[in-house]
Amino acid sequence: MIQRTDCYCGSRKKYQYCCEPYLSGKKLPNTAEQLMRSRYSAFCQKEIPYLLDTAIPPEDRSTDEQELAKTMQKTTWLGLTVVSTQQGKKQDQVGFVEFVAAFQVDEPRQHHERSRFIKKNQRWFYLDGEILPDLVLKGNADCWCGSGKKYRKCHQHN
Ligand SMILES: [Zn+2]
Ligand SMILES: [Zn+2]
Repeated sequence: MIQRTDCYCGSRKKYQYCCEPYLSGKKLPNTAEQLMRSRYSAFCQKEIPYLLDTAIPPEDRSTDEQELAKTMQKTTWLGLTVVSTQQGKKQDQVGFVEFVAAFQVDEPRQHHERSRFIKKNQRWFYLDGEILPDLVLKGNADCWCGSGKKYRKCHQHN
């Protein structure tokens, strides 16, 4: 189970040494994965301005803002699993991060996405993402929902 001081993003680092410096603007993420994790933490913290500032295009900020507020109101975030990353390192201009964000509306669900990030003026931004079907794990893997149980004893549906 996640301890209170652990970061929301599941890194097992303390929040103040993980995503907090990004959300507070003290540091800029070096990698696409760091930005992705910090955006997940921002969802947990309902930090809408951070989400808008780190995404492209912010063409219609007010619509996005309302959409985000609506999503946040009905969603409880359960945990984040980064499945894979491609590029997105310090020297890259583009990066991809595949992840599962577990959330609860009525029951735990997966948001499985492959996000695309680009770098503009030395800063990483979320560009867009492809929604993927629910991730299937090995039976003895820890379940994506964050219950701490094995997948086979939790959300594995045959
Ligand atoms: Zn974090
Ligand atoms: Zn589960």
